[in-house]
Amino acid sequence: MISSINPFDGKLLAEFSALTPEELNKKISDAGEAFRSWRNSSFQNRKILMLKLSEILHDKKDELSRIATLEMGKLFIESGLEIEKCSRLCKYYGENAEQFLADETIETEAEKSFIHYEPMGVILGVMPWNFPYWQVLRFAVPAIMAGNVCLLKHASNVPQCAVLIEELFTEAGFPPAVFQTLMIDSSSVEKIISHHLVKGISLTGSEHAGSSVASLAGKQIKKTVLELGGSDPFIVLHDAEINFAVKNAVSSRLGNNGQSCIAAKRFIVSEKIVDEFTDKLKEKFLSLQSGNPINKKTQVSVMAREDLAVELEMQVNKSIDKGAQIICGGRREAAFFQPTILVKVKPGMPAFDEELFGPVAAIISFTTEEEAIRLANNSQFGLGGSVWTKDVARGISLAKQVECGSVYVNTLMKSDQRMPFGGIKKSGYGRELSLHGIREFVNVKSVMVNS
Ligand code: NAP
Repeated sequence: MISSINPFDGKLLAEFSALTPEELNKKISDAGEAFRSWRNSSFQNRKILMLKLSEILHDKKDELSRIATLEMGKLFIESGLEIEKCSRLCKYYGENAEQFLADETIETEAEKSFIHYEPMGVILGVMPWNFPYWQVLRFAVPAIMAGNVCLLKHASNVPQCAVLIEELFTEAGFPPAVFQTLMIDSSSVEKIISHHLVKGISLTGSEHAGSSVASLAGKQIKKTVLELGGSDPFIVLHDAEINFAVKNAVSSRLGNNGQSCIAAKRFIVSEKIVDEFTDKLKEKFLSLQSGNPINKKTQVSVMAREDLAVELEMQVNKSIDKGAQIICGGRREAAFFQPTILVKVKPGMPAFDEELFGPVAAIISFTTEEEAIRLANNSQFGLGGSVWTKDVARGISLAKQVECGSVYVNTLMKSDQRMPFGGIKKSGYGRELSLHGIREFVNVKSVMVNS
């Protein structure tokens, strides 16, 4: 059984039976069958269905938000923002896919040369719980617009969201089996990867899951896209507008109760302003109203599962054992972990070296800008980052030196369907969103023609 449990009160919300091996095989062959005709559907037809999906998401915002909040503890307001973002994503790819995948003429010695994009087939998505709708649609919408069909293995703690997503595709009018949710645990993933009909795998999740899935796919010579963890640096130069930087630091670190891959995790702050920055951050952290995430007044709430909060607590305690100092928070009660600030964080501590996937800010001070960049890049991860300064030219120069997939200057780091998204180093490879995302699961075919 796969259980949906409210992390706020531990109550069982729903239970789902896992697929039998026979049921799983049937779903994979249904996907293969659906691909045969979906690959030949017109972009115009796909667009109509995708715009309908966009509309349904918008109309069902509250209902969908409620389930995400109950199932994984996201603030109700944040769930609503996630749904709106999904709706925009569907509209974006509905309107742009045809142009992104149009034949491209190339000048060569041949009479005619062009690049032609073709769908690959059945694509498996292995997805996390932290943005339970967005992460799934971010892989599936471009893949489906390109003519592929998708299977979803969602995180085991969000089965209700997983079921709802398939229902949304059906309601929008997509043919059966173009998108299917598989109610399975991670032990069945190997079997799906090795199935001859499955041509590609997109995984968003931890380094451990990414490495395991990519190894299995590698054995089968199948394409993967990996969107893994991060420990994004938030670099604050001495001339930054401090109140503005602090406001964004709070949103970035505590949004989604601290459980975002692109949350700022290491705050690398000029020694000239580090005390003022820390005091102001502490004041904000202490002022936040905690409570039930379904209540609209709640500003911070539970993590998605108690075991995740326990793991975070261990990382914080180990960092303290190694010399970090705690200046607020640090207490855990079941799945709730107080917003926490650690100072005097250094390489060699979990708060610096690992991903802290919860509401804990690690503050590190620097003397020179070279040192700031060295600290920022002293990480196994390379997902995102940000730079805060009144000197925009210097901000851009530093941004270019940060080793990561996205870096923002004086603005909150967030994903945007118009911009490519993904990481380097152990944050993964491949890109989602934008033109780049839709070209991941396609065959890029060269055609040269002479008469
Ligand atoms: P996770 O434990 O790695 O799980 C992600 C998905 O992988 C789940 O569906 C999980 O299934 C499955 N899985 C886990 N181990 C597996 C294995 N050995 N073989 C096959 N499948 C496996 O990660 P999470 O706790 O859900 O998500 C948090 C992580 O995701 C963080 O590191 C975060 O930074 C990262 N993340 C990255 C991005 C990005 O875009 N770069 C976005 C969001 C989150 P079960 O639930 O059944 O175990």
